Amino acid sequence: MPQPKVLIFAPADTESHKELEDAGCSLVLGSANWSDPTGDTTEKLAEMASGADALAGTSIKGAYISKDVLQASEGLRIIAKYTVGVDEIDVDAATELGILVTHAPTEANWGGVAETTVTKLLTLLKNTRERDRHMKSGGAWRDVSLTGTHIGTREEDGYEGIVIGLIGLGRIGGRVSKLMAPWGMRIVAYDPYVDEDRFRELGVERLGLDDLLKQSDVVSLHVILTKETRHMIGARELGLMKPTAILINTSRGPAVDEPALVTALQTEAIGGAALDVFETEPLPTDSPLRGLGDNVLLSPHMSSHNFGAGLTPGIKWGTADILHALRGEDPEHVYNPEALPQWRERFAGRSLI
Ligand code: NAD
Repeated sequence: MPQPKVLIFAPADTESHKELEDAGCSLVLGSANWSDPTGDTTEKLAEMASGADALAGTSIKGAYISKDVLQASEGLRIIAKYTVGVDEIDVDAATELGILVTHAPTEANWGGVAETTVTKLLTLLKNTRERDRHMKSGGAWRDVSLTGTHIGTREEDGYEGIVIGLIGLGRIGGRVSKLMAPWGMRIVAYDPYVDEDRFRELGVERLGLDDLLKQSDVVSLHVILTKETRHMIGARELGLMKPTAILINTSRGPAVDEPALVTALQTEAIGGAALDVFETEPLPTDSPLRGLGDNVLLSPHMSSHNFGAGLTPGIKWGTADILHALRGEDPEHVYNPEALPQWRERFAGRSLI
C-alpha cells in the first residue's frame, strides 16, 4: 500500500510528526511556523499538496488554502487546523469537493484568549504600564494623570460601574462575560446567532450593534471572520463609540478597518485600543499603530499561548482527526459537517494506514 502523504503547511511541533510517521505517513513540511506564519505562497502550497491525503497546520498568514490547493490532490480527505478559526481555508470549496475541514477550539486556546482579553482591559483601564513607568522614571510621587477607571459597581456609593460590550457571545465572548461577571458591572452583547437562553444563563443583556457601541465603555470583539464580520467596525461604528471608550480586538484583524481605527486613535475619537490581531500579520514594522503610544496596547497574535496550554492540545486534536480520516472514519472535530455525506461515500471504511 502506498504511504499516505500529509502536507503540514505550518508545522508547530515534532511529536505529532513522529505519531503520523509511526502510523505510516510520509510528511511534507511547509515553511510557515508559529513564530513567522508567513510561509509559502498559495501557488507553492498547491504544488506541495499534489497527491496529499491530508493537510494540517497552525495558522498561516501568507497564503490562502484556496480551491486550487484543495484540487491539487484527488484523494485529499481532510484539512486539520491546530487552532481555532478556519478563515485561511476556502471551506465552501472544501465542502463542495467533499473534503472535511477540522479545527481545534480547545479550552486551552479559547480560554487563554478570554484571559488575555481581561488582562488587556485591566491594563488599559488601570493605567498599569503608565504607573510602572512613572515609578521607574523617578517622577513625582503621585500624578493625577495616572488615575484609573473604577470598573465594577460600588453599590453603597450609587456607582453603577462601566459597561462592557461584547461583539460575539460564543466560546470566548461567553468566557469573558463569566470572568468579568463577579465585578458586578453591566455586560451587554451583540450576537444575532445566539439564542436568548445563552444570554440569560450568562446574565448578559442583548443589544443591537449600534446601541452597544454607543453605550459601552469597553467594546470587545469575539466574532469569527466571515464576509459579514469583515470590517464590521469601521469609521461609522468607531464614530458611535464614547470618546473615552476602548476597543479590544483579540478575534481577527480584518474584523476592524485598521486605517479607520488609526484615525480614530490619532484624533482621540475613542479612548484607546488593545489589539492582538491585525489586518496584516506579522504587523508591518512601519504600521502607524506602533507609534501611537500608551493609548494602544499591542501583542503579536499570541493571546492563547500560555505555559501548560498553548497549541499542544490542539495539535493532539488535529493529529487524531487526520488519523481517523486516513482510516476512513469520521474525525471528531468537523467544522463543515455538510461535507460528511459526500466524504463518507468516497472514503468511509477505506483505510490508508
Ligand atoms: P465561536 O464560534 O465560539 O464564537 C464566535 C461568535 O461570533 C458566535 O457566537 C457567532 O454567533 C458570533 N458571530 C458570528 N457572526 C457574527 C456577527 N455578524 N455579529 C455578531 N456576532 C457574530 O468562536 P470563539 O472560539 O469564541 O472565537 C472567537 C474569535 O476569536 C474567532 O475569530 C477566532 O478565530 C478568534 N481567536 C483568536 C485567537 C488569538 O490568538 N487571538 C485564538 C483563538 C481564537
